[in-house]
Amino acid sequence: MPENRIEHLCVEKGMKMTDQRRVIARVLSSSDDHPDVEEVYLRASKLDPKISIATVYRTVRLFEEASIVERHDFGDGRSRYEEASGEHHDHLIDIQSGEVVEFQNQQIEALQEKIAAKHGMKLIGHRLELYGVPIVRADGKKK
Ligand SMILES: [Zn+2]
Repeated sequence: MPENRIEHLCVEKGMKMTDQRRVIARVLSSSDDHPDVEEVYLRASKLDPKISIATVYRTVRLFEEASIVERHDFGDGRSRYEEASGEHHDHLIDIQSGEVVEFQNQQIEALQEKIAAKHGMKLIGHRLELYGVPIVRADGKKK
């Protein structure tokens, strides 16, 4: 199994890497969506059927504490995870299908910095989640 980015970061941070942690790192590294713990568990079980959900839960928390993965709450009470990459993005969530769109907008970024500055602060980070439903046209088709 070749080393993936998350695994590499774990090793760099001095984390002890067991085989199961490697499997979970691999699953998270190869996911381009925002799986919750149960989904990570399902994907990990395909690579290692002996893995338990408790192990997945602990490991994901461990990665989160080390800032290797980011945790999101998209309004349905489930924690979702994605690899913490350098590229900042925000999320637009379709609350009907649960589909998540990632986006970047320079105007929003600049506006947030302006707001912080207005209050005498330098912005060091933010979370932005937009929630929506699909716009349905009169002919019933989605826009
Ligand atoms: Zn994302």
